[in-house]
Amino acid sequence: MLPSLVHADTWTQRGIDVTLVDPQRHLYYSGMVPEYLGGVYDEADVRIDLAAQARANGASFVQEAAAAIDPDARVVETQAGDALPFDVLAINVGSANPAVPADAIPTKPIAHIRPLASRIEQTLAEATARLRLVVVGGGAAGTEVALNVTGRFAGADRLEDLELTIVEQADRLLPGFPAGLRTDATNRLRRRGATVSTGTTVTNVEGTDDAPAAVYTDTASPLAADAVLWATGTVGPPLLHDSPLPTNDRGFVRTTRSLQVRAHPRLFAAGDCASIEDLDLARVGVHAVKQGPTLRANLHHTLQALGAGAGVPSPTDLQTFRPYPLTPLILSTGTADGLWTAGSMWAAHPWLLRLKHGVDRRWMRPYAPDRWGTTSWREQFGAEAAIETGA
Ligand SMILES: Cc1cc2nc3c(=O)[nH]c(=O)nc-3n(C[C@H](O)[C@H](O)[C@H](O)COP(=O)(O)OP(=O)(O)OC[C@H]3O[C@@H](n4cnc5c(N)ncnc54)[C@H](O)[C@@H]3O)c2cc1C
Repeated sequence: MLPSLVHADTWTQRGIDVTLVDPQRHLYYSGMVPEYLGGVYDEADVRIDLAAQARANGASFVQEAAAAIDPDARVVETQAGDALPFDVLAINVGSANPAVPADAIPTKPIAHIRPLASRIEQTLAEATARLRLVVVGGGAAGTEVALNVTGRFAGADRLEDLELTIVEQADRLLPGFPAGLRTDATNRLRRRGATVSTGTTVTNVEGTDDAPAAVYTDTASPLAADAVLWATGTVGPPLLHDSPLPTNDRGFVRTTRSLQVRAHPRLFAAGDCASIEDLDLARVGVHAVKQGPTLRANLHHTLQALGAGAGVPSPTDLQTFRPYPLTPLILSTGTADGLWTAGSMWAAHPWLLRLKHGVDRRWMRPYAPDRWGTTSWREQFGAEAAIETGA
């Protein structure tokens, strides 16, 4: 989690070695990824160079996946077999999609979605090409991607070359969201020719390299697909459920409100991978980002206490994470409108999309200054690139 890295140089100046471990050189910012697929952003707009961030903050970057955590020996073992000893560990490995078939493109970690972007670009680059896309999972991620992809084909006047099916096992898209928002998103997709297949569960995906995949469901004959996006929600990543750390029934690591892993006070966890005490938070970036400053402050306090020989601080000496009372979200729609929701409230309006763009770009500023560093609020709100309005 990047906020914990910012100002890591204040730690390294005190002789603390800070190491960032991630198999991906670039972190793709999920808030912008649906609009990257929708053609609003370029790839370079939506990604953060982790190696450069580490360097700028005096940290080392190890481009490997952590494969095992030994909390007693205080060692992280990487997939390549390297052992990284630690005094304090922050675990921010996000979440995984459950049971991803080999022939599907997962939404987690988000960088894995890139092949879908290439597929869309190849199709649009060839006047006679067509794309059959099946999106499995009609939650916020699957629906927002489907809205943006249909919006992009509509904007390019190529809707007839897109056959998009979104499959959701609940009786409507966006389970858990306000009824009006669910209907609004469904209608937008149907108006652009997408098939919305609710009350349907995908049972298998089979494919070969040179033929379309077959997507099997429990209600209809198999769907042929050139690309299958697997957006079926989140579970804890294998690193956690194969570890000796305490996890809940979905494989997320249990922490206190101070983000310390239960029974392992030198280990912290935050973001999607953490199950925080009594909180049942949606796995969304707004909660992850809000945990960043608490994580950073508590890492700082722990490093100081250990450095002074005072031992690990007790949770009462650390900051307590306080979540937003509601989960605010703005979904882009592939049109000029944004769809805002918090709790049972929702609204659709172009200003909401502008607000989303302002917030997203502002968030990216410190991490991708070459792309967003000089963008003022005025530019963000006032001089937006025109977004083609879909049907
Ligand atoms: C399509 C889509 C759109 C979304 N849009 C929004 C939105 O608009 N607003 C919102 O609030 N939320 C949104 N979300 C949810 C959001 O992506 C997550 O809640 C957020 O990214 C969680 O942040 P994180 O730091 O916990 O994990 P992540 O951002 O997933 O980062 C985890 C990092 O850990 C790395 N990692 C994984 N395993 C290992 C390992 N074994 N060793 C080392 N590194 C590892 C990964 O490579 C990745 O860089 C969206 C999700 C999707 C899929």
